[in-house]
Amino acid sequence: MKPTLRLAGVIGDPIAHSRSPRLHGYWLQRYGVAGHYVPLHIKGEDFAKSLEMLPKMGFSGVNVTLPHKHSALALSDCVTPLARRIGAANTLTFTENGIEADNTDAYGFAQNIREAHPDWTPRRVALIGAGGASRAVIAALQDQGAAEILLTNRTQPRAEALAEEFGAGVVVVPWADRAAMLDGCDTLVNGTSMGMQGNPALDLDLSALPRSAIVNDLVYAPLETPLLAAARARGNACVDGLGMLLHQAAPGFERWFGVTPQVDADLRKAVLA
Ligand code: NAP
Repeated sequence: MKPTLRLAGVIGDPIAHSRSPRLHGYWLQRYGVAGHYVPLHIKGEDFAKSLEMLPKMGFSGVNVTLPHKHSALALSDCVTPLARRIGAANTLTFTENGIEADNTDAYGFAQNIREAHPDWTPRRVALIGAGGASRAVIAALQDQGAAEILLTNRTQPRAEALAEEFGAGVVVVPWADRAAMLDGCDTLVNGTSMGMQGNPALDLDLSALPRSAIVNDLVYAPLETPLLAAARARGNACVDGLGMLLHQAAPGFERWFGVTPQVDADLRKAVLA
């Protein structure tokens, strides 16, 4: 009997830049799973229709990226409390009971740091940036027990909106005071797109940051951002952003293809190639 061919993919607009097909393709080959994971370029106006059609076409589920992460929530039949809290879904599973929506970015973020630092216990964290990615980071930090999340953003009202949504532990710091807020922090996270290929470096003086603090950049292209290079040079432990991308993919792969995949050095190499 022929094995069942399993199908999954990633929906976005644009989608050509996505590393997810390479990532899942590596795992499919490594675990000998009969299946495909494909990029799906779907525009906003066609998103709802695509979610109706993909299960009928035999898809087990999809990852969802910009600009559909928010609408994916509204179009799903069952939403995990975490995805609801973050306000976005990135992993949809098509089941007999309809579409199940989850958000695995928070898991990816925490797992990435914990992999390198198993004893990581964030208490006082500096988070730069209040965009979509920071929503998952805040949820993860709260779930890891962080008592104080100092949040700063170039556009302050965006940070204030997040603080109001996520609760009292999130304290907004004016953009002009971002260097001073690093004092006493055990973790620093860059959640902005600064430092990404083609963008200027994040403008942040690290002098006040304790040398014991872990520094994590969500940006993974390049892997060694100017922020990580500066932090490493003064003795801080650094975690790049690629591991978050790899770890957030694992729960979806497991649900759709039935194998728990490993995140390791070979996968990193394959995704970077
Ligand atoms: P987003 O929603 O567009 O937010 C962008 C953030 O960057 C906002 O806080 C924005 O501040 C800030 N920013 C942009 N230009 C700036 C500038 N010139 N000076 C200061 N701040 C600036 O994007 P996102 O989805 O949150 O993603 C943010 C970064 O995380 C991207 O580089 C993305 O690739 C990365 N990311 C990585 C992973 C991973 O798996 N490693 C996952 C998700 C995202 P304003 O509000 O003032 O515009």
